[in-house]
Amino acid sequence: MNLKDNSTYALYESIGIGKKIIEFAQEKEKSLSERFKAIDETAEYNSIRVISAMQKNKVSQECFTASSGYGYDDFGRETLEKVYADIFHTEDALVRPQITCGTHALKTALFGNLRPGDELYSPAGHPYDTLEEVIGIRDSKGSLKEYGINYKETALLPDGSFDYDNIPKCITEKTRLITIQRSRGYQTRPSFTVEKIGELISFVKKIKPDVTVMVDNCYGEFIERGEPSDVGADMIVGSLIKNPGGGLAPSGGYICGTRECVENASYALNSPGLGKETGASLGVLRSFYQGLFMAPTVAASALKGAIFAARCYEDLGFKAYPSSSDERTDIIEAITLGSKEALCAFCEGIQGASPVDGHVRPEPWDMPGYDDSVIMAAGAFIQGSSIELSADGPLREPYNVYFQGGLTYPAAKLGIINSIKKLNDYGIINI
Ligand SMILES: *Cc1c(COP(=O)(O)O)cnc(C)c1O
Repeated sequence: MNLKDNSTYALYESIGIGKKIIEFAQEKEKSLSERFKAIDETAEYNSIRVISAMQKNKVSQECFTASSGYGYDDFGRETLEKVYADIFHTEDALVRPQITCGTHALKTALFGNLRPGDELYSPAGHPYDTLEEVIGIRDSKGSLKEYGINYKETALLPDGSFDYDNIPKCITEKTRLITIQRSRGYQTRPSFTVEKIGELISFVKKIKPDVTVMVDNCYGEFIERGEPSDVGADMIVGSLIKNPGGGLAPSGGYICGTRECVENASYALNSPGLGKETGASLGVLRSFYQGLFMAPTVAASALKGAIFAARCYEDLGFKAYPSSSDERTDIIEAITLGSKEALCAFCEGIQGASPVDGHVRPEPWDMPGYDDSVIMAAGAFIQGSSIELSADGPLREPYNVYFQGGLTYPAAKLGIINSIKKLNDYGIINI
């Protein structure tokens, strides 16, 4: 090897990325140095919180031991739940590999804390797609609706803010649980910062002090210096194959909150009478701990990738949500690409930069439950893990791509650069 060629530029060129594209990317990255510095500082802050909670709870080698069968007295599992509760400043936590995904965690929290005749209310607009069937907004077997639990929502105002004039009209003696989704999900509405969520919680609790507030915290963990549980949420809920699993947790979800909310959820997850006492950890605890340890820096890497993507694509003439200078509370980036060709090229670029399945080309397909074909790019170590670099979008106007993840910033950056290369190769842009 000629050490003279041992530069990052030369390496990018050797994998087919032209000089002009690299120069463009380096310039955009440079323009973000102040923002990236602030993100690193938040990661430092949150890492110290995580390490302190582990130390306080005396995490030790024996916490990584696998339990089997019923999983009674699983010391590592119980300690991990205390660590989560300390990090999120809640009384208790349920952190389990038996929670199969984010939807399951949310379903468990809802079914555990609602009873027939109760009403569930979303003052923050329409919830995430998969919750439509949990709630029964779309008719579905086993939904809350089938159990006699009704649902109401108040749409956001056109500018994406809460409709404070109309929210009080929907809170009645039946309202038992209020749900707030922090991240935009697959919408272009803004995500809600912890501060905004805190204002909404204060408002609804003034009207009804004993109402339970749940926050769908998916994709938001460790992006700010506090979480919705610091501003009055009774329960925060999320997936371990997103931020808090740090890319290492192979499966699982969490529910952190008041002792009562977590206990109720544990009966819905396991069985009345059993609750938190059972649930073998099956050898995944080391990756849960290690992933949590990594999570603040992994989330920071994904966040930098999202902002870098926004800055590049804005300068190429596309619209990004949030913009590259907006305040952030989650890792999701939506970019309006404007054509089917651009959406497919973007996904091809992300896929082609992945460490796993980098050799395959994503194709649109008719996914069950969706009206339009969907294209997805993911080359992940853990199936469907969206804290890993991934992108997807439905093939319909205005051809938004939703981009998230990146376990390391260099991997996220490479993905974005490769997506730009693909758009350039297809003649959609001209660099
Ligand atoms: C990912 C996500 C969920 C749950 O999704 P799963 O695919 O079931 O893990 C729920 N709400 C939001 C906002 C999400 O981003």
